[in-house]
This record gives sequence, structure tokens and C-alpha cells, in this order.
Amino acid sequence: MRGLRAQLTLWHAGLMALTLLALSGFTYALLIGVLHSRADAALHEFADTTARQIATTLYAGGSTPPPGTPRFLSNDLRSWGRYIQVVDTQGYVVEKSDGLNTHPLPVSADALRRGLAGETTFETVPGLGEHPVRIITTPVLMGRRVPYLVQAGTSLEGVEAALQRAGWILLVLTPTVFVMALVGGWLVVGRALRRVDDLRRTALEIQGTNLQRRIKHAGADDEIGRLAQAFDQMIARLDRSFQQVRQFSADASHELKTPLTAIRGEAEVVLMGNHTAEEYRQAIGSILESAERMSQVVESLLLLARADSGQNLVRREPVELGDVLLRAYESLEDLAARQHISVLIDEVEDLTVSGDPLWLNQILVNLISNAIKYTPEGGEVSVALRAAEGQAELTVRDTGIGIAPEHLPYIFDRFYRVDEGRARAAGGTGLGLSITRWAVEAHEGQIEVESEVGRGTLIRVRFPLATDGQFPQSDALPS
Ligand code: ADP
Repeated sequence: MRGLRAQLTLWHAGLMALTLLALSGFTYALLIGVLHSRADAALHEFADTTARQIATTLYAGGSTPPPGTPRFLSNDLRSWGRYIQVVDTQGYVVEKSDGLNTHPLPVSADALRRGLAGETTFETVPGLGEHPVRIITTPVLMGRRVPYLVQAGTSLEGVEAALQRAGWILLVLTPTVFVMALVGGWLVVGRALRRVDDLRRTALEIQGTNLQRRIKHAGADDEIGRLAQAFDQMIARLDRSFQQVRQFSADASHELKTPLTAIRGEAEVVLMGNHTAEEYRQAIGSILESAERMSQVVESLLLLARADSGQNLVRREPVELGDVLLRAYESLEDLAARQHISVLIDEVEDLTVSGDPLWLNQILVNLISNAIKYTPEGGEVSVALRAAEGQAELTVRDTGIGIAPEHLPYIFDRFYRVDEGRARAAGGTGLGLSITRWAVEAHEGQIEVESEVGRGTLIRVRFPLATDGQFPQSDALPS
């Protein structure tokens, strides 16, 4: 955590300082350019005006320079404190302003040559005074002739001072901003990461026993807020699963406890006193019945546990659903006859699905035996298999007790029974429909139920039809 904080802060401040440095450099370069070009422009205008005035004077006095010491510069110009001088074609100073009395401006060979060629030259000369001096050398043009050159200079003191000040400001500003970015970044990142730390602490505190705890993040709906929400949702899901598991264990224990109590009761009664052979037979018979019931529950639980673990329990092969239906019907004929219920097969179409014949048989047996179990004597159960909307549709309809609407959503839940006493008496474990639904879904099918209390129940199961080429050659065996 601390590592991330330092990293983010350093990156942030470093990038900020780099940007600022680049910006400072650019601004400084721009400032140098602007200040120098402004100084040059002023110098150029001043020298140019003077050169043109000298040319005018020369034109007025004839085409040759006046003999003796020429006087081109007005008194004003000489004494204004500006540096200006006139040099002849040899580079000798013929006239200069008062400010240059002791130190005339130097005439470089290059400036002289270019000036005589009619060009203007700018030079920066250090060492003349405390500050460098900018010098312009411009020709006095008389047609194509250049009798004199005008040189003007200006100290770069002002420019240097301005640049120095700007430099100082930038030099102080950059590290200041860097330090501020460092401190600010450290605080801001720290605040954001503190919320991550809260999250971590809560995560550490959560165990199987306090899954009701939530982070309940009240802050902004940002990345961390959403992370906290996702975390809370995950805990809620875990909580639900834990509760289901707890409920399931409680139900399973209860389910096994009832036949166990019955077995113990029977055994205790048999052990006390003398009994006739018939009584012993009856007691052992009922103990066996309870044991049978327990093994049914254990078998179903085992099945569901394996289904839950995601093991691939379902084989895939082409199955004639009609054959499976007839087999299930035959296995339940006796039960139906004992309960005086007639089971009718309405319609059986030739339909092939892809699946496991054992599981498909289990589905049908569960549904038909439920219909028989929950239908009073003299009732009727009808079964049909037909194609509907490109799928194989199985329906099991009974004229039984029906299921009230408030129970309908739960009948596929494990251990759920509408009327516990009745279901138990009928030999139900409360797991049949959960197993059935799991098996239907493992075959990519859907199961639906419609029911009306006192009138009967209709269960509809749909499976996708098998398509050609769905099975590898080796699996294409008849079921
Ligand atoms: P059980 O082993 O108790 O029959 P199931 O999981 O098969 O358990 O069914 C759950 C409950 O749904 C049953 O206890 C019963 O109340 C109800 N039920 C299932 N099928 C029918 C039906 N055909 N008619 C009425 N009630 C039914």
C-alpha cells in the first residue's frame, strides 16, 4: 500500500515537474527572443533614421562629403546619452555622441564589409562595460554609393535584468511546484488509498460466522466505491450460499433423524418383553422400511452433491424418448394399480433427443410417481410426448390434489414439501423434484408447472431435439 502511494505520488510530481521545466524553458526562450527583437527594432529605427538624415544632408551639400570634420549629428543626438557614431569607409570614426567620448564603438571588419555592400549588421559585443552592448551598423546610402556608415549601440542591461528576473522566478517556481505536487499528491493518494485499506481490513474481518457484515461504502460512486459495492455483493452471495448450505444440512439431518428415531423405537419395543413371531416380523419389516427410506435419502443427497460439484454425470447419446417413456410407464404400473389410479398414454411421437437414457428415465419416473402419489384413488394420470416448437415436449398431467400458487415457486427446492405429513406418508423425500430439475437442465431442457388446487397438476418438460452430426461415430449406438 505504502509502495503504491509513494509510486503514484512520485510519478505525479515528477511528470508535473517535467512539464513545468519544459514550459519554463520554452517561456524563457520566447522571452529572450521577444526582448532582443524589441531592442533590435528600436536600434534599427534609430540608426536608419539617422542614416537617412545624413544622406539628405549630403545630397543638399553636394555629392562629396564636406571637408574637415563633418557635423552630421545634431546637438540633441550627440548629447542625448545615446550611443551613436558615424564612420567612414575605412572604419575611422568621424563623429560620435558624447557618451562614446572615451570608448567609441568597435567597428568589426565584417560589419564594415557588409555595410559597404549596403547591408545592415547586428552584433552583441561583450566587455565594453558592465553589460554587453548591442551594436547596429547600417550604411548611409546615396544611390549605390556608401560614403559613411552609422553605428548605434544600446546596453543590454535592461534585457539582461528582465531575463535574470524571469530566470529567478522560473528557477524558484519549478522546485516549489514540485514540492507542492509531492505533498498534495501524497495527501490525495493517501486519502484514496485509505478507503482501499478500510476495504482490506473489513475483508480480513469477515469469516463464515459474520457474513452479514458489509462495507457499506457511503462515499462517491468512483472506482473504489464500485469496488466496495462489488465486494458487498460478493459477500451477500456468499452469505446466501452459506445459509443454503446450513439449511440443507439441517434439513438433511432432520430427514435422516426421523427414520432413525423410528428404527430405535421399534428396536427398543422389540427388546422389551416377549413377542410373538408375527410381532417380530412386523417390527423387522418396519425397521427395514425405515432403513430403505434412509438409503433413499442418502442416495439422493449423494446424487445432488455430485451434481453440485459440477461432475459430468450425464452421458450424451441419441435417445428415443418414446422408448424411455414406455419403460417408465411399465415400471410404475404396479404402483398405479395399488393406488387405483389409471395411467394413460395420450400420444407418443417418434422423437430423438441427445442425452442419458438412465437420467431421462429417472426424470419420467419422478414425475409420473409424483402424479400418482398426489392423486387420490380413482384419479387419472395422463402422459404425452409430442413435438412442440422444434423441441420434444413431455407432459404429465394428473387429476390430483394440485399445488396452491404460494407453494408453486418452491416445489423444486430441496426438501420442500407442500404437506409434509402427506408427502412423507406417500414415501417422498422432498428431493425428487430438485433432482428432476437438475437432470432436465443438464440436458439443456426446461421444466414448468401449472396447477390448480383440487383439480390437478400439469408438468411440462421440453428438451432440444437431437440433430444429425451431433454425435461422434463411436457414440452413435442405439440406447
Ligand atoms: P416428494 O419426494 O416429497 O414428492 P418432490 O421434490 O418430488 O418431493 O416434490 C416436492 C413437493 O411438491 C411434494 O412434497 C408435493 O407437495 C409437491 N408435488 C410434487 N408433485 C406434485 C403433484 N403432481 N401434485 C401435487 N403436488 C405435487
